[in-house]
Amino acid sequence: MAKMIFVTGGVTSSLGKGIVAASLAKLLQARGYSVTIQKFDPYINIDPGTLNPYEHGECYVTEDGAETDLDLGHYERFLNSPTSQANNVTTGRVYQTVINKEREGAYLGKTVQVVPHITDEIKRRMMLLSDSNKFDIVITEIGGTVGDIESLPYVEAVRQLSWELGKNNCIVIHLTLIPYLRAAKELKTKPTQHSVKELLENGIQPDILVCRTEHKLTNDIKKKIALFCNVSQNSVIESIDAETIYDVPLLMLKEKLDRTVLAKLKLPAKSEPILTEWKKFLGKYKHPTSEVKIGLIGKYVELQDAYKSIHEAFIHASSANECHVNLISLHSEEIDENNVAQKLSGLDGILVAPGFGERGIEGKINAIKYARENNLPFFGICLGMQCAVIEYARNVLKLTKAHSTEMNDKSPNPVINLMEEQKQVKVIGGTMRLGAYPCTITKSSNAYNAYGTTNISERHRHRYEFNNKYKKQFEKSGLVASGINPKSDLVEIVEIPKHPWFTGVQFHPELKSTVIKPHPLFVSFVKAAMEYSLGKSNGLAKNLKKKAKVKA
Ligand code: GLN
Repeated sequence: MAKMIFVTGGVTSSLGKGIVAASLAKLLQARGYSVTIQKFDPYINIDPGTLNPYEHGECYVTEDGAETDLDLGHYERFLNSPTSQANNVTTGRVYQTVINKEREGAYLGKTVQVVPHITDEIKRRMMLLSDSNKFDIVITEIGGTVGDIESLPYVEAVRQLSWELGKNNCIVIHLTLIPYLRAAKELKTKPTQHSVKELLENGIQPDILVCRTEHKLTNDIKKKIALFCNVSQNSVIESIDAETIYDVPLLMLKEKLDRTVLAKLKLPAKSEPILTEWKKFLGKYKHPTSEVKIGLIGKYVELQDAYKSIHEAFIHASSANECHVNLISLHSEEIDENNVAQKLSGLDGILVAPGFGERGIEGKINAIKYARENNLPFFGICLGMQCAVIEYARNVLKLTKAHSTEMNDKSPNPVINLMEEQKQVKVIGGTMRLGAYPCTITKSSNAYNAYGTTNISERHRHRYEFNNKYKKQFEKSGLVASGINPKSDLVEIVEIPKHPWFTGVQFHPELKSTVIKPHPLFVSFVKAAMEYSLGKSNGLAKNLKKKAKVKA
């Protein structure tokens, strides 16, 4: 049986429980333990697949096709190991199981209640990964904030499990906030005391407190927190604001979070964590030798979390290239034919983001046209790829009314249309083409240059596809399908060989980029942007020289 670590949050949301959990997991993994992380979310949706990105940020898709919370993305990026459906559970899923069982007659004669039926189902799911015998340690992050009505059954399940599993097999880490009052020039511990009191009222004594703070915690403050919250002083861990999320494992190491955890779980410390690759990554990321400007064009750009994995994949690729990527968010609704040149002219590349629905689509198409005509590196992901196909059909094939049937089901040229198996689908939740599918890449393509192999597997989340009826026509005039699903013949990658870097992918490469394994397409795209930038400055230097000559 695996040792269990529960991570709860107090005082406010957005304290970064996911990052702290992932950082702890990283340190334990780097000491030689096999670790996984799971997240329990207290909302009633069965999964976040039906949530708007404004509500909940990006929906992260796992290899097995689960639509999950974006924290799972952090777990994978930190640990470089895949998660699955079992790693994310919502209240909706718990209730659905219990209610289905009730209908089957599993509780015949009994009143079905939150305690014990819902809590039992939560506990069963909490132990699934432990029961798989694949892990030494399972970290469970409880979404939401302690004290929320929705969180109560989870907190109760944690209380019961702690009691059942026993002290040395299970610990609770509580993440809290120590606010700084500028007027008083003081860090305040009261909210933390209240939050721990709330946990105590629910029968949980936290073992470790991780305290988010903008300023260093003095020994006196740590002592005070320890005394009022019944924990030892070395169990009060400072978690100071970091420059990047990738610094957090090193900050937690300094605070000895991993050692404290292992001591409480009666596990040997083994070796010091081996973090050579991690530190190399950070060193290169923080000391770039060049810089590029890349435009991220989407309709949810106001909210960073909506494209979380894309942002992170650029961080990984920027370290690999030792090049700072200055990611400029551009709202697709604000781009039109008249301002596109002015909006994109300072950039060294554009990425057109995934998305759903009509809003902002013409802005994306205008931006792609500009990139295609001006040899500006272009990377299209999912809807971004579909827009590239529509743009090419309209402006090169002269099918001026070409569209995706998602936006216009009466288009005479539906170059993107619904997949056959999607035509029967009536239910929205969990019915897209989801998860990992194989793809075969043509040699001598941009994609092959990036991947260095012909057989890849990437994750999907979409309903619409490239319409193969138009494939020949596209290929004849210069947009080729360089990646194909070997079984279904679906087009997965399109590119323009005559363009320096113009690639659209139907899948989501950003989901597979990790610190240790930056995604090859992102690495290659950043490299292309660097070349573009260099070309620009060489051109500029030439022009300046010319001007100087004319003057002389
Ligand atoms: N809306 C498009 C589809 O369903 C693209 C989805 C996406 O970008 N993830 O096919």
